[in-house]
Amino acid sequence: MTKNGIICEINNKKVFLDPKNTDSSGINFVSHAHMDHLPSKNGGTILASSETNEIASFRGFKMQNHVEKMDDFFLIDSGHILGSRGLLFDDIFYTGDICTRDRGFLKGAKIPKCKTLITECTFGLPEFMFPKLEVIKKQVNELISELYTRGVPVILMGYQLGKAQTITQLFGHWSPLYFHDSVKQMNDLHQQLGVPLREGMGHSEAQNKGLLDKKPWIMVTPMMSEKSNFLKEMRSKYGAVTIGFSGWAQSTKFPFGRRTDYSIPMSDHCDFDELVSMIVQSSAEQVYVIHGFVEEFSAHLRKIGINAQPLRENSLDDFV
Ligand SMILES: [Zn+2]
Ligand SMILES: [Zn+2]
Repeated sequence: MTKNGIICEINNKKVFLDPKNTDSSGINFVSHAHMDHLPSKNGGTILASSETNEIASFRGFKMQNHVEKMDDFFLIDSGHILGSRGLLFDDIFYTGDICTRDRGFLKGAKIPKCKTLITECTFGLPEFMFPKLEVIKKQVNELISELYTRGVPVILMGYQLGKAQTITQLFGHWSPLYFHDSVKQMNDLHQQLGVPLREGMGHSEAQNKGLLDKKPWIMVTPMMSEKSNFLKEMRSKYGAVTIGFSGWAQSTKFPFGRRTDYSIPMSDHCDFDELVSMIVQSSAEQVYVIHGFVEEFSAHLRKIGINAQPLRENSLDDFV
């Protein structure tokens, strides 16, 4: 692990896993197109799925020397967002961001066997247990139904890339359906890439046409602060209520998931139990954890007999 991300050296070949800056001395693997995983500069060969390439370029990062395939490297669907992949090479599996639960068009990751597993553990505390999707669907539909009977517009909030499309697919049957302009753009891109999503009007157009005055309605927006002018306006003008979708929703310790009127624990990551069973399934002899509660989570893994440790800067020497 270096300041530039994870580097693996195998047979004099360097593999950079989600590097901050791509490096021309090796292969650069980009797991998915969330901003924190996209490199800031080009250089060297970039290995990523075609969808990641498309979304990255839409977000302003044009990948030069992009390849989708390479001998001895296997891209495994990690079920996190459209195009997200883990990388299996030389008995090492790097998960990137991973989710093993089916959510609408996103199918949960199938875990390959490996000797060494490098995984994220964003929700690596036992308190993070997410309800089944069926339960969430029922709860949210009931909530929307109740607000609709009272003529209250509903804003559904989730990350612009990933969550917003899942929300659209799960709750897009409510009408009229509007999107924050940024979500509409991302949904349109998903449709071009073959994901069926219900059409809806962007918020600027709907507002200009006076459609938001006709209540109730539903709108999918990115996560944003309750202090944002956009939400302030939606509340004061239309009396809209917010429902936020986030893995942090349930947490007692991390209240930033609960700033919306209602918060629903739905995530594009594994919850605690899913992380553990994913690791067991991999049969890995050595597990390295990154992102999130690395100390607590690796301690838990060691307690149940799994050889695990956090991946710290320069701690890779023993497994190059
Ligand atoms: Zn991500
Ligand atoms: Zn991430």
